Amino acid sequence: MGKYYAGIDLGGTKILTGIGDTQGNILARSRVRTEVEKGEEGIIQNIIKSLNRSVEKAAIDFADLSCIGVGSPGPLSISRGVISETSNLPFKEFPLVELLEAEVNKPVLLENDANSAALAEKMFGAGQGVEEMIYITISTGIGGGIISKGEIFHGCCDGAGEIGHMIVNPGGPTCGFNQHRGCLEAMASGTAILREARNLLQQEDFSGFTGFTGEPKDLTGYQVAKLARQGDEKAQEIYEEVGYYLGIGVANLINLFNPELIVFGGGVMKAKELFWDVMRHSIADHAIPAVKNDCQLEESKLGEDVGLVGALAVAINRGK
Ligand SMILES: [Zn+2]
Repeated sequence: MGKYYAGIDLGGTKILTGIGDTQGNILARSRVRTEVEKGEEGIIQNIIKSLNRSVEKAAIDFADLSCIGVGSPGPLSISRGVISETSNLPFKEFPLVELLEAEVNKPVLLENDANSAALAEKMFGAGQGVEEMIYITISTGIGGGIISKGEIFHGCCDGAGEIGHMIVNPGGPTCGFNQHRGCLEAMASGTAILREARNLLQQEDFSGFTGFTGEPKDLTGYQVAKLARQGDEKAQEIYEEVGYYLGIGVANLINLFNPELIVFGGGVMKAKELFWDVMRHSIADHAIPAVKNDCQLEESKLGEDVGLVGALAVAINRGK
């Protein structure tokens, strides 16, 4: 049995790999482009290239690797080791585990990236020692993972934990999936913030954001946060709405799962001060008080490493 673990954070544009020890410390890491245009076999070869580089940087033998965890966008089937279909990787039924195991001759474990991030926070981040917790990432999309009895809650077919697609505003705007309206992702993600700001700029009776003179298409999420911080009331209202809908979503999670802890990560958390208080009030308005009082809210401790540590956590958790 090897002493080390490998983690692979598979994304649509880049593949991150890392070598870790049993404590979740990243000893070495590497990054390559995914190159989806090269097809399934090309991606496998890029993963192996990145993996070999990480092993070399860590100055260990490949034989010292116990197993390999992969965090991937879902939906996927963990038991079959297959990525079913995702907008980031243009394949259907990609048998990643089978193809990768044939190349590396080590056990490969596949997990949804948001679930593996939740496991990482539980094992090595803000949730250490906590058995019932939920992780929410707020970035261009909203994702999450549910930890129950110390393990990822998968549902019957690995589809559980799609926190971002919980409906919080029926009839509202659509999310990237374009299938349903008013989900949390459509109301409170970075994409939603930018959409609302650009919509305002296109309204004839809107006098503009103070300090912004560009076209709607030139606006970025970072700028909307900056405008809000500088005191623009309309920009502030956009973030307040984010807080309101996040609060509804979080209250639903609290009522359903009675978690001890909810951990928040993702790029939108950099503007936390613009929505956090409104979110807390909204949680108080929508959650059952006694259940709410059991639950702490905290920020991710792993920050931008959460994807890679998540993939490692999946491998380390199996090797426990
Ligand atoms: Zn949705």
